[in-house]
Amino acid sequence: MVYYAGVDLGATNVRAIVAEADGTTIGVSRRSTPRGPTGIDVTEGVLRTLREACVDAGIDPERIAATGIGSIGPFDLAEGAVIDPANLPDSIDRIPLTGPIAKLIDSNDVYLHNDTTAGVIGERFHAVSNPDDMAYITISSGIGAGVCCDGTVMNGWDGNAGEVGHYVVDPQGRLTCGCGRDGHWEAYCSGNAIPDYARLLAEDDPTISTALPVEGPDFTAKDVFELAGEDELADYVIEQLAHWNAIGVTNVVHAFAPIVVSFGGAVALHNEDLVVDPIRERVSEMVMTNVPEIRVTDHGDDVVLEGALASALTEGTGDRRRLRG
Ligand SMILES: [Zn+2]
Repeated sequence: MVYYAGVDLGATNVRAIVAEADGTTIGVSRRSTPRGPTGIDVTEGVLRTLREACVDAGIDPERIAATGIGSIGPFDLAEGAVIDPANLPDSIDRIPLTGPIAKLIDSNDVYLHNDTTAGVIGERFHAVSNPDDMAYITISSGIGAGVCCDGTVMNGWDGNAGEVGHYVVDPQGRLTCGCGRDGHWEAYCSGNAIPDYARLLAEDDPTISTALPVEGPDFTAKDVFELAGEDELADYVIEQLAHWNAIGVTNVVHAFAPIVVSFGGAVALHNEDLVVDPIRERVSEMVMTNVPEIRVTDHGDDVVLEGALASALTEGTGDRRRLRG
């Protein structure tokens, strides 16, 4: 019997899953992502987590035929490594992944993707129609997309395709993105950006009443969504978020012609009615081509982990015709 594994390497947690060839989960593990001091420490944390998932499954790591990885980037894909990850300490400059995992499982079938690409692989794999054309968009602390177009999962030559959070949506560039550029989608609508954006809107029109602690140090995106329907500023922010989100999604649709767009990430998952439903309504009026089905992932916080496993099961594609085992 052969087994398959998926790994989700995030800035906060590293998770691993081991499954049988039909995708049935038989082992899982989760650890905090090591904060260094070096990238090798993160690599070792990943290997330890995968080993623990194998222990949980009651198998030796060598019995795993293939492993998929969904990871924070950016990447050096040729080297199978993460390079200078933004959300980990500066002392971490290189996290080797594919080589050490190949050694652990004694197989070269290791597929490394950025987390949103893993997301689209999983969403494609689990979608009823197993579509050749779809997008997965995460709205969480950042914004990004994984895209499958004409049946090809788009990694990009360096593994960094799909950085749609850095689409310019506001040519006025009123807010500066975490990347240092102005007017990017993520600078307005990501979980990290929403407090700044709410502050900006409050300054624009001081006559809007609000109970939101916009000037407080602990003001978060969650506060905005919690006061939906009860607070004038909160409602205005949510409406403006819908405006920018719809522009971003429309750009994705016009670029890649997906049949299905699936959403994940904490902001979308926890606020489907306030974030995803308005996108669906607006995009149907804004797209000049096929209007895709717009949905929220069924896998919640497991979407990257499930995608990594789906990658292992399908040679990095999410295409069920390529199921192995
Ligand atoms: Zn940016």
